[in-house]
Amino acid sequence: MPEPLRQRYLDPARVVVVKIGSAVLTRDGRLHRPALARLGAEIAELRRTGRRVIIVSSGAVASGLQPLGLSSMPKAIVDKQAAAAVGQQILMAAWAEAFRKERVAVAQVLLTADDLDHRTRYLNARHTLQNLLHHGVVPIVNENDSVSYDEIKMGDNDHLSALVTLLVSADLLIMLTVVDGLRRGGLDGPVIPLVAADDEVSTHVARGKSATGIGGMATKVAAAALVGRSGVPAIIAPGTRKGVLRTLISGEEVGTLFEPRTRRLDPRRRWLATATRARGSLLVDDGARRALVERKASLLPAGIVRVEGRFASGAVVRICDAAGEPFARGLVSYASDEIDRVRGCKGAELPQILGYRYVDEIVHRNDMVIEKS
Ligand code: GLU
Repeated sequence: MPEPLRQRYLDPARVVVVKIGSAVLTRDGRLHRPALARLGAEIAELRRTGRRVIIVSSGAVASGLQPLGLSSMPKAIVDKQAAAAVGQQILMAAWAEAFRKERVAVAQVLLTADDLDHRTRYLNARHTLQNLLHHGVVPIVNENDSVSYDEIKMGDNDHLSALVTLLVSADLLIMLTVVDGLRRGGLDGPVIPLVAADDEVSTHVARGKSATGIGGMATKVAAAALVGRSGVPAIIAPGTRKGVLRTLISGEEVGTLFEPRTRRLDPRRRWLATATRARGSLLVDDGARRALVERKASLLPAGIVRVEGRFASGAVVRICDAAGEPFARGLVSYASDEIDRVRGCKGAELPQILGYRYVDEIVHRNDMVIEKS
């Protein structure tokens, strides 16, 4: 039976990101082609309902293990990179095969965190993906594991799928995994069908992950929260269940639906929410924190108590409370050394201290996203 609340979120969803975990796509350490064939057919069916679909597919590292003679997930990053380089083309060939039967063309798009941190590269990636969708192609995205090293790594494909959702302004994120959804109290409880915007779910997040997967429930819940903060619903659902996409999109109760918290964010703020690496931090006093969170005010010099890191004007920074806990991020209008000189001062004093005055706001409201209120 379709659920009215679910239908409200799912019916209008036109652009959908489907993230598929390694454990769904592999069996005994190898790609399980029947699983790809089934999911290919299900995604083709979803497209026939007038929806555009982007896949975020894991499984590159897992597909590269056997050809490299490895029996389990390697620990060393260089081995993971090698396995990903071997496995990514095996993975893509398998997807192309699965979709060939459906007469659907696929495209490979590999991303690193760096691509999304720089606004021009972010816009390029966005245009490419949107153009592929426009041409009726299914983009298959993965992290560019063979060039990603720790510092520029997005981490896990759950996070990547949330970033891609925001990047293309998708209406829905579906994360397909080997479990049925978020379970009450962790592993054995009943599946929680709906997580409301402000529900605290950490007690239901079981630790641990599958042998092939990188993430686990925690990274999925974090990905759902990330898109939710930008106004996009997310679902965690069992990717091993036949017909899961059809059942789910019709509004039936399968998996866990995370209600979004806010209205959709504008494109600039969505980029701010995805930019993974902040260049520094501004610590603000409690009055400023409240003004930002409750009154939606801009950040003025008077409320800033400390500047951390060195950055130029236009950089993305974290905005933290006085104890250093981040609650927002934004684009600064001044460089770090300038902010350090004017912190605690009134806007009117800026010309005197800096010798010029650009704007009064250190971070303008329009260039800010609140991440925790
Ligand atoms: N990018 C990795 C792969 O394709 C997977 C990362 C993940 O599953 O979170 O093997």
